[in-house]
Amino acid sequence: MRRKPVPVLETDVHHRLPRASGGKGINGNKVVVLKSQHVHYHALFADKTPHQIAKILSETWIDKRFVLVALPRTKKDDYSGEGVA
Ligand SMILES: [Zn+2]
Repeated sequence: MRRKPVPVLETDVHHRLPRASGGKGINGNKVVVLKSQHVHYHALFADKTPHQIAKILSETWIDKRFVLVALPRTKKDDYSGEGVA
């Protein structure tokens, strides 16, 4: 009896701060995501800033009763991989 093939979930590496904007290729700036989701993310947002992404989501994609905002993290919550001074 043949088993059903197991779907392969291809992964990709996404840079949280785009390399084009100075993001580094270090672990603190990289996250592994599903390749299919990665393609769609960049189709929607390219290398837009968090503020631009929040505006697009608020104006087009989410329930009009809500607004998304992008707030910078505090030093304590720094995930840039640059380390906290
Ligand atoms: Zn990416």
